[in-house]
Amino acid sequence: MLLDICVVCILGGPGAGKGTQCSILQTKFLCAHFSVGDMLRSELSDPDSPHRELILKSMECGRSGPKEINIGILQSHIQEAYAKGVRTFFLDGFPRRLDLAEYFEEHVAPVSLVLVLECPRKVMMLRALRRRRNERDNVDNTNKRINTFEEKTVDAIRKYEAAGKVVRVQADADVPTVSAAIEETLRQSAIRLDLRTSEMEDQG
Ligand code: ADP
Repeated sequence: MLLDICVVCILGGPGAGKGTQCSILQTKFLCAHFSVGDMLRSELSDPDSPHRELILKSMECGRSGPKEINIGILQSHIQEAYAKGVRTFFLDGFPRRLDLAEYFEEHVAPVSLVLVLECPRKVMMLRALRRRRNERDNVDNTNKRINTFEEKTVDAIRKYEAAGKVVRVQADADVPTVSAAIEETLRQSAIRLDLRTSEMEDQG
């Protein structure tokens, strides 16, 4: 268990802007950003991965697969960054379900804050289709993913709401407006994040 890290989970349906906003957060704060979806996709593109079939089946309908795989992959990325001195983590699209949230908190670290990007269904659908990473990003699968988000992730959000750890940001505005709202919300929350300085940007 890592007890000295700050874990901020960013949740929202497909196309809500999680990836976009996490990339911006990474330029502003000293942190690492991991997308569980990207991790699973990269596992998919590895022909030697033993988890390929299971992940493929799960992802098509927006499920994220068994918790041991999800959290095993996530944990190894977190540990690697931790060894390099990173102590703040933005987790994009995690936890998708209550059992994942519980397993993560039992085995990896406590969650400090959950930031929910609120976005109307129509906007999520439009953005997700415009992005289209592959042929699986079609209307049917996107609808399934939005449904799964609404049905399953709600339980995880409720758990954190009961603990007073959920903040919400309206995500159907343009990217800079959403980004400014997120920064303001983080500033008002109980967590303290280290800003990146311009010298650090110079070093890349
Ligand atoms: P998510 O990670 O939540 O699935 P992404 O960040 O990948 O969403 O965004 C999905 C698509 O919508 C991308 O093409 C992205 O450029 C676009 N997008 C993200 N945020 C906004 C926004 N606020 N306004 C318009 N388009 C956006």
